[in-house]
Amino acid sequence: MSQDNKALFIIFGGTGDLAKRKLYPSLFRLFRKGNINKHFAVIGTARREWSDDYFREIVAESIETLHPTKQEINDFTSHFYYQSHNVNDTEEYQVLGTLANRLDEEYQLDGNRLFYLAMAPRFFGTISKHIKSEQIMTETGFSRLIIEKPFGTDYQTAEQLNHEIGAAFKEEQIFRIDHYLGKEMVQNISAVRFGNNIFESLWNHKYIESVQITLAESLGVEERGGYYDQSGALKDMVQNHILQVVSLLAMEPPTIFSEEAIRTEKINALKSVRIYDEQAVKESVVRGQYGQGSLGDHSFSSYRDEPGVEENSQTETFVAAKFMIDNFRWAGVPFYVRTGKRLTEKGTRINIVFKSTPINVFREENDTNTNLPENILTIYIQPTEGFSLTLNGKEIGDGFNIDPVKLDYRHSQENLDNSPEAYEKLILDCLKGDATNFTHWDEVATSWKIVDIIRHTWDKETEQIPNYPAGSMGPKCAFDLLEKEGHKWVWEPDTWYKNKGQLKD
Ligand code: NAD
Repeated sequence: MSQDNKALFIIFGGTGDLAKRKLYPSLFRLFRKGNINKHFAVIGTARREWSDDYFREIVAESIETLHPTKQEINDFTSHFYYQSHNVNDTEEYQVLGTLANRLDEEYQLDGNRLFYLAMAPRFFGTISKHIKSEQIMTETGFSRLIIEKPFGTDYQTAEQLNHEIGAAFKEEQIFRIDHYLGKEMVQNISAVRFGNNIFESLWNHKYIESVQITLAESLGVEERGGYYDQSGALKDMVQNHILQVVSLLAMEPPTIFSEEAIRTEKINALKSVRIYDEQAVKESVVRGQYGQGSLGDHSFSSYRDEPGVEENSQTETFVAAKFMIDNFRWAGVPFYVRTGKRLTEKGTRINIVFKSTPINVFREENDTNTNLPENILTIYIQPTEGFSLTLNGKEIGDGFNIDPVKLDYRHSQENLDNSPEAYEKLILDCLKGDATNFTHWDEVATSWKIVDIIRHTWDKETEQIPNYPAGSMGPKCAFDLLEKEGHKWVWEPDTWYKNKGQLKD
């Protein structure tokens, strides 16, 4: 039975892209399922002068793809109110506060408030300050703050931002969104590890050769060139999503699956990630930027030709790194990560590469090759979701040839269609006060410390870029990074296209 959670949502940036593409559809899904029903109201605020009616039309448009009935549209959008508001103007907060109190009474919301900052981070401090000083937080119910990435641009700015927000909200009231943590298969990492003895008992340096994490995007920067050019892949993807996935893979088992126990272990894992010096950065982290390229019949322009991007931009659109985790469990096991734009295929996947058997007993007598293919556990996060495990079996027929087979499980399309979207899950978690799948300040701080030294090292040097053609799986240095240690990337979608002559070598 779903529960009708009571809350007033105040969405700052209510006319923005994120609100329309993600937040309103997610609220509608929660409404359909009865997680919010009679006792909720939404105030959208932004600078534009919109009426409630116009706002409701926009909200209705944003949920069109979910095929609501007319009745559903009316019922849902009747809970939406619009308040034009410049976040720098103190008096306008008082108007907002009055509207909030009126809706609280009308919908019997018990003073529960969820403030969603779907705006540029430079506004986070001033909004938080005003929410407190103009008494828009309530004494009776909960007041929670959801904020979007990026949380700062380095450790120092993140600390400053945290300080500003912290003056109004306590840590347990702050919900820092990392939408990767809302993804079904990212949450499944814990199920695979802690629900299966066959994996957890092998989950350490004795049996694992390497861990590989790929977050590949096939798209370029689209309309976000201006923003992206200031950020780059390291800050946009590695500091948050990738290090979060690393912490889930590397953490010790929590004593119980609770928010506090999981958080403690994740933070411990992140604190064990080796912080490099400049020399180690040069050896262990590489970057790239895409140039023109083609894949099959499609040709793509270079990053520097994208709208909003500087013509001599040095911004990286690709990062590959080796992280080392200096603790008992992981000593010596490389965690290879890579992420980039305009890669061959869109895909997020994790490959756990197990060590080969100590010797190949099936080898020919004088054969010096003693290696059998490694067992690999793959966790597919998107676009397909599931697991696979490669095992070595005997090839059918005469002789005794070893043939790797793949046990492959993917969630069906029907299951995927019915599963909640990441934002939907995270908003519901926040309504329930469960911050397990949000990022704690200690995690943000530790991640910035890992990433800052990489940025500082790169800022001192210019890279020969562009260095990979759009449509490939990144620059040569990203392959060399593994090869020099006798490893290779397990996932090679580019090879398939190369073999068909659709991608240049
Ligand atoms: P957007 O530019 O589309 O929207 C920004 C909103 O802020 C608009 O509603 C605008 O009216 C409002 N605004 C700007 N200045 C204001 C002021 N002085 N007073 C009141 N309102 C003002 O941005 P977006 O893409 O929706 O992104 C919002 C946040 O979410 C950003 O922090 C972004 O990094 C983050 N984010 C966005 C996405 C996405 O898919 N769009 C994904 C992840 C994170």
